[in-house]
Formats: sequence, C-alpha cells, structure tokens
Amino acid sequence: MKGYDQWFGVPRKEIAWYPKIDPAKCIGCGLCVAICGREVYSYDFADRRSVVVKPYNCLVGCTTCSNLCPVGAIEFPSIEIVRDVIKKCGVFKAVKEKLKEKHGDFVERAKKC
Ligand code: SF4
Ligand code: SF4
Repeated sequence: MKGYDQWFGVPRKEIAWYPKIDPAKCIGCGLCVAICGREVYSYDFADRRSVVVKPYNCLVGCTTCSNLCPVGAIEFPSIEIVRDVIKKCGVFKAVKEKLKEKHGDFVERAKKC
C-alpha cells in the first residue's frame, strides 16, 4: 500500500471513496482489472468476475473504471464526500507543498522546450 496511505495529509482510510461492483450487472469482462493502475481489483478466474481487493488504493475522485465499465456495474459514492474532505480537513497546506514540488518540474520542463 506504499504511497497510498494518505491523501494530502488525510489518512486514506478516513475517506470512503472506492468502487463497488454490482454482481447482478457485472459480466466479468475484466476491463476494470486491466485499466486500473492501482491494483484495486483482482480477477477471480474460478468465478469469472472482478473483485475489489484494495479499496483504499483507489485514487480519490477517480471514476475511470466506472466510466468504462460496459454495463455500468461499478458504483461510487457521491463526489460530495470528497468535497467535504477538501473543505473540512485542511488539505490546502499539503496541496501548496505539492505545487512547490511541481513548480520545480515545470521550470525544468520549460527549459527543455
Ligand atoms: S468492467 Fe464492469 S463488467 Fe467488466 S468486470 Fe469490471 S465490473 Fe464487471
Ligand atoms: S476509480 Fe480509478 S483508481 Fe479507483 S479503482 Fe477505478 S480506475 Fe482504479
């Protein structure tokens, strides 16, 4: 779980943002497993279906797998829970630190253009 235990200073497990699969809709295509870069899913080859195995690895606010699921079987909570975290948990100090890091990257990239 290296690198995914916090989100801008907020313990990741305090943010209930992760996918849920509706087994009645899922056709077991495996696309969600293939496209997620954070190993949130595994594939159960015996049952021919995807399983959420590392929910808190999910990138907060991401809905890519849900957007791409061909049958709409992946659900997320309302984005308002993320907005509440942003408002209430003081993430902007950590955001500013991140911006400072990125500023250096941007300057280096601009020099190469
Ligand atoms: S992409 Fe959708 S249908 Fe395909 S395995 Fe994942 S949840 Fe099931
Ligand atoms: S929303 Fe993004 S990070 Fe989260 S499980 Fe889906 S593809 Fe992976």
